[in-house]
Amino acid sequence: MSEWGDGTRVVHSVPAVAGEPFGSSPVFASAYHLGGSDTYGRPHNATWRALEAALGALDGGEAVLFPSGMAAISTVLRVLLAPGDTVVVPSDGYYLTRTLVAEMPVKVVEVPTAGPYPSFEGVRLVLLESPSNPGLDVCDIAALAERAHAGGALVAVDNTTATPLGQRPLELGADIVVSSDTKAVAGHSDVLLGHVSTADAGLAEKVRAARTVGGAIPGPFEAWLAHRGLGTLDLRLARQAENAAALYAVLKDHPAVRGLRWPGAVEDPAHEVARRQMRRFGGVLTFELASAEAVAGFVERSELVAASTSFGGLHTTLDRRAQWGDPVPEGLVRMSAGCEDTADLVADVLKALDHPEG
Ligand SMILES: *Cc1c(COP(=O)(O)O)cnc(C)c1O
Repeated sequence: MSEWGDGTRVVHSVPAVAGEPFGSSPVFASAYHLGGSDTYGRPHNATWRALEAALGALDGGEAVLFPSGMAAISTVLRVLLAPGDTVVVPSDGYYLTRTLVAEMPVKVVEVPTAGPYPSFEGVRLVLLESPSNPGLDVCDIAALAERAHAGGALVAVDNTTATPLGQRPLELGADIVVSSDTKAVAGHSDVLLGHVSTADAGLAEKVRAARTVGGAIPGPFEAWLAHRGLGTLDLRLARQAENAAALYAVLKDHPAVRGLRWPGAVEDPAHEVARRQMRRFGGVLTFELASAEAVAGFVERSELVAASTSFGGLHTTLDRRAQWGDPVPEGLVRMSAGCEDTADLVADVLKALDHPEG
């Protein structure tokens, strides 16, 4: 299976069995008739198992499903960190991760994704996010994993922006992958879900046990929807990346746009490292317009770009991050290129930008 291409792998993550429907129906049981291996809905669900097998195979480890990306991240932190431990987190990564560790009885060291990174001596866990959300900076996962391991630390990578098809942190030396599958993995802006993957069977068991005790379990219907979405991940990412590349080409010299970032662009400062460690680039770009008003005007004039937080869906969306408290300029936006026709999207974005007050 691992020799197959991405498209084949995600399509066939839904097994086709002779005489059976394509893809099994969701199992909603809270309690089971005893006699099989499933007893109760908090530890046991066949619909989760199917998606965990699919995501684990793509990540190269064992996956444990959670009801959101934050549930996955908070469970990993709870399992790995004891009071007084030191954790390294990205200063420019997903903001709720910083909110979460700030509330824990641990020492927090914030480092920008692009570095420089301090010594990892005495650190318990290094949490990386590459590409980072919203700045799309990239760090060298393999080099940092080697340094962290030499210092005695474990390495977790938030792989949300890349997806399991875009990057395999476990192969690069990370111990743990965390992901918000709410974004491109489920991909249709209708599900919250997350997962943890690790090649360490003992650690996977601890994370699974923490889920059972903590009670942060995913809904079977959400797992089923995400598994259905996963089947088209290769197709969706391909179109999104094509659209992002076309948008990059017209935005890079546009007078209304500053600070354009997309790791897939040869000119991007992160491209060199990104090209080495990523298998493909996604559809998320970041750039700056003059002000919050300029962003509002752009969205108003566009017919195709919707103001919306989150990313990775079918629709092209744009999110002004300062409104959520990210420490970024007022006009900074993260744009998630959707699956629209490239020519339509480029024409719409240029029209919305070309307004005299734009
Ligand atoms: C969205 C996001 C999360 C949180 O995921 P939820 O599914 O919303 O809980 C974590 N990390 C990154 C990088 C994200 O983009």
